[in-house]
Amino acid sequence: MSIDSLAALVRTISDFPKPGIQFRDITTLLADGAGLRELVEHMAGIVRPLDPDLIVGVEARGFILAAALAHALGKGFVPVRKAGKLPGRTVGIDYVLEYGTDRLELHEGQVPQGARIVLVDDLIATGGTAQAAAQLLREQGGNVLMALFAIDLPDLGGRQALEADGVATAAVMAFAGH
Ligand code: AMP
Repeated sequence: MSIDSLAALVRTISDFPKPGIQFRDITTLLADGAGLRELVEHMAGIVRPLDPDLIVGVEARGFILAAALAHALGKGFVPVRKAGKLPGRTVGIDYVLEYGTDRLELHEGQVPQGARIVLVDDLIATGGTAQAAAQLLREQGGNVLMALFAIDLPDLGGRQALEADGVATAAVMAFAGH
């Protein structure tokens, strides 16, 4: 399946969750067996040469792709969650959003010192979420080899922001606009 065919499985919903946003909805791609397999195989092809120790996924859609990728590679999966969701002792990071702030958390001790990590989310927009997750992982001693996304919105500059932080960044698909 070509990247264009894969991208055609992503549904775009205008003005969600607020006016002006073109929401790139991957649930339509996830519901397509061939599409899901193809997406995960593309991601695995990018990550396999790095031979990471861990795949870290960002809540919530990042969990789906990160877990599938971890399974495909035979690696462990670790979740980075929104505040207050993880049951054990956590470490966290606060980060700035367009309006207000948010917080990401990780179970204490789930990132071994020097662990070679690939960070996964469904989409990179401004890069703020992935920058915060990468910083949290580094603060815990992780070595973030790459941040990998199903979708990049290149007009928003997230990839450049992440790479300026020293995080190699890749995506399977790209969509113009916001
Ligand atoms: P950012 O921190 O700006 O890179 O935003 C990335 C996070 O917000 C990811 O977890 C995405 O799932 C979500 N997100 C941002 N913009 C969109 C969009 N246009 N369509 C779908 N998800 C989005």
